[in-house]
Amino acid sequence: MIIVMEANASQEQIKLVHDRLEENGFKVHLSQGVERTIMGAVGEKTQAMMELFETLPGVERVVPIVQPFKLASRVFQQQQSLIPVGNEVVGDGSIQIIAGPCAVEGREKYLEVAQVVKEAGATMLRGGAFKPRTSPYSFQGLEKEGLKILAEARRVTGLPVVTEIVDPRLVEEVADYVDVLQVGARNMQNFFLLRELGKVNKPVLLKRGPSATVEEWIMAAEYIISSGNPRVIMCERGIRSFEKYTRNTLDLSAVPLIKQLTHLPIIVDPSHGTGKWKLVEPMALAAVGAGADGIMVEVHQNPSEALSDGPQSLTPEHFRELVSKVKRMVAALHS
Ligand code: PEP
Ligand code: MN
Repeated sequence: MIIVMEANASQEQIKLVHDRLEENGFKVHLSQGVERTIMGAVGEKTQAMMELFETLPGVERVVPIVQPFKLASRVFQQQQSLIPVGNEVVGDGSIQIIAGPCAVEGREKYLEVAQVVKEAGATMLRGGAFKPRTSPYSFQGLEKEGLKILAEARRVTGLPVVTEIVDPRLVEEVADYVDVLQVGARNMQNFFLLRELGKVNKPVLLKRGPSATVEEWIMAAEYIISSGNPRVIMCERGIRSFEKYTRNTLDLSAVPLIKQLTHLPIIVDPSHGTGKWKLVEPMALAAVGAGADGIMVEVHQNPSEALSDGPQSLTPEHFRELVSKVKRMVAALHS
């Protein structure tokens, strides 16, 4: 439930409500706004308990949160979460363009493509160092060597880096090298990993599971937030459907839905969302039109030689065209 304090509630009144909540076994999340204090109380509530809290001095009203997610909910926090990453802020109305190859394939190649996407207008770099694939016989990533290359690219370009974390035991180590930790679609409900990410001091990019409902996805975010890390960025990357022309079915309705249901920023990955490079630009533009806070796009110098996801990777030239169209689209939306 949410306890909304009166605008002129005193610190003693706030403390009393806070203490009473804790005595009754609630976990309390304070949100101290300019106007008033709001307390999110997560725990077992009853009608009688809600009525009791409504009688405490300084309490304006008690609102039940009917959805299973609490801390991620718009009801709990009305203002949009702003998540700083390097010099950028995710969620502030700007469009983040996260670009790079599916996997870090080698030092020279990665540093080159990083520079190319930076010059084209990318605001962050992507690249997988740990790549457990559908087949154990496919390329598995450069692992720690890949992390070092990502850190070098970060130094050289000045752009923040996003990479996937697959093992709860490596959270601290990966966090030392990069700016944003990505939870891959297949790990969206790896609850031990989510809990570990709750303890880390870095933003988390949470991909939607291939068969996850919007509610299950938000509950995964709730795991991270309730474990202590509020900096969660949602990422729609397509869900599995009966359609075979595309690798996944990109669910763009998730963008306004996440905005309505939660206060978390959301970005869209049209590369994994479609699996086809020719569909990436139109879906990236559609994502921006739907209100996304950014896009994540795979770019490779030579997609036909990519060790993973070549068919959905853009060439640098196509990426430049995409960025220029995204910028025109943003300008049109703001005009
Ligand atoms: C990725 O972005 O590198 C990736 C593996 O995507 P997903 O987890 O969405 O399949
Ligand atoms: Mn990929």
